[in-house]
Amino acid sequence: MHKHHSALGVATTLKPAAPVTLIRPEAAARAARFFVEKFPGRSLYAVKANPSPDLIRTLFASGITHFDVASIAEVRLVADALAGEEGVKLCFMHPVKAEEAIAEAYHVHGVRTFSLDTIDELEKIMRATGDATDLELCVRLRVSSEHSELSLASKFGAELGETRELLMATRQAADALGICFHVGSQAMSPQAYSDAIERVRAAIVDAAVTVDIIDVGGGFPSVYPGMEPVSLERYFDAIHRGFESLPISYSAELWCEPGRALSAEYSSVVVRVERRRGNELYINDGAYGALFDAAHIGWRFPVELLREEASLETLEGFSFYGPTCDDMDHMVGPFMLPSDVKAGDYIEIGMLGAYGAAMRTGFNGFTSESTIEVEDEPMASLYTEALPTRRRANVVKLGSSL
Ligand SMILES: *Cc1c(COP(=O)(O)O)cnc(C)c1O
Repeated sequence: MHKHHSALGVATTLKPAAPVTLIRPEAAARAARFFVEKFPGRSLYAVKANPSPDLIRTLFASGITHFDVASIAEVRLVADALAGEEGVKLCFMHPVKAEEAIAEAYHVHGVRTFSLDTIDELEKIMRATGDATDLELCVRLRVSSEHSELSLASKFGAELGETRELLMATRQAADALGICFHVGSQAMSPQAYSDAIERVRAAIVDAAVTVDIIDVGGGFPSVYPGMEPVSLERYFDAIHRGFESLPISYSAELWCEPGRALSAEYSSVVVRVERRRGNELYINDGAYGALFDAAHIGWRFPVELLREEASLETLEGFSFYGPTCDDMDHMVGPFMLPSDVKAGDYIEIGMLGAYGAAMRTGFNGFTSESTIEVEDEPMASLYTEALPTRRRANVVKLGSSL
């Protein structure tokens, strides 16, 4: 892995012709330490947000030992990345799994924790594991995504009318019974978790079962232009209060599964402007690269012009075109950049560690494996106040001008 001091240094000294992914292990380690120290239970990293083995090792070294995996490829990837380490635990939290995947996870990789939301899936798990008696089974409840930017409400989760039978049957089969949910990604209010925990309470009371694990899922936010959440401690407080008031045993465990919140600050991408047409910039990464969310759901990411001598021009809103040949490769933004930005300039697009780098394809021949580790701070952070002025000014300007 190449190392460099800063994003600015990468742009001005290397002048890369293809997009470069910058990684900041220290930012990911800081996020991990925050969850390990402050979340009032156990934090599992949701691998799909960014499956980089380097990131997985960084999180592990900072105290994240449990991983939420959703496919057999993710099971193998984490098993490989952390081979030989003590205390690693994989939890297979996709409620609809291939029977072969369950069998391999259980028999080859020692996975004991699975989620489900139907009786059919419960029967599948029992078949695939040879009616194992050492399973931790988490029943996924359907909860509202109303406080979140990205819904996860329609695909998975048992409805209130179905949970009684399912919880009772799962209790019979499981060594430990859990209840899990997902409030949707980038939940902008702690209320999302309080409301979901009320659903859990109703389900427990209705089924009258003993519950050993409450898993509040992912959804913890990061910070983006126009999306500045309250502190994560407020989320943790709301979850802790809800958990303490549930009718569960004293020894019940509380889990969460952050993906975005542990990985967003880990990486950014340096792109080059190849052409300017009015306030549209043609850059060399896009919808089929690290900017899937910017293109398809209009997500706004912070941006910064990387010039040796900072531009003093006022900021204006720009949209981006990616490098492929189709109109869909368009990121509407607005991305706020100095008005004199021009072809040949480099731009850092920040906060792409979650669901950014992980989505890159090779479509149309435009892709880039190039990754450089840098030591400067991410463009925004939920975990430190101490960002350098240049970056802090940038983020504040972005927030207030949108
Ligand atoms: C995607 C997912 C997560 C992570 O969600 P974030 O919003 O990135 O925190 C956690 N758990 C499950 C089951 C998921 O599907």
